[in-house]
Amino acid sequence: MMSHEDCLFCKIIEGEIPSAKVYEDDHVYAFLDISQVTTGHTLVIPKKHSENIYETDEDAASKVFASIPKITTALKKAYQPTGLNVLQNNGAIAGQTVYHLHLHLIPRYEADEGFGMKWIERNDEFSGDDLQTIAQKIANEIV
Ligand code: 5GP
Ligand code: ZN
Repeated sequence: MMSHEDCLFCKIIEGEIPSAKVYEDDHVYAFLDISQVTTGHTLVIPKKHSENIYETDEDAASKVFASIPKITTALKKAYQPTGLNVLQNNGAIAGQTVYHLHLHLIPRYEADEGFGMKWIERNDEFSGDDLQTIAQKIANEIV
């Protein structure tokens, strides 16, 4: 398995650094986030090292996401959260602090909210034509 010497999460996969493991298969490793933003806060990572979403190949991405329903279902059964966010940060500005791709599973409870999102809707700033222009600009780059 490709691993990176100085990568914290590669060391966790290899057992060099201890972790609270939730799930493991040939391609995926899931463990509790040390910060437990909410109870059950879990990180799901590919065993194959990639820094971020841009570097991740389709196969690794598929395998990571394929594991999410079964892990979240287990989390739901174990802790009965009333909601759950799946979050994946890329780049410091987006909150990334560990440069091995990871998905955060953040269960949400009424009273235990260590997690918040600021989501400002700007519908009035973009016309239907603007949206078509933006979509086309992105679509043109898809290979
Ligand atoms: P990011 O901010 O890059 O999206 O998420 C990195 C996450 O890794 C943070 O939520 C942080 O709490 C968690 N983390 C950092 N170091 C360790 C560690 O040594 N063990 C575990 N289990 N989680 C860690
Ligand atoms: Zn790594």
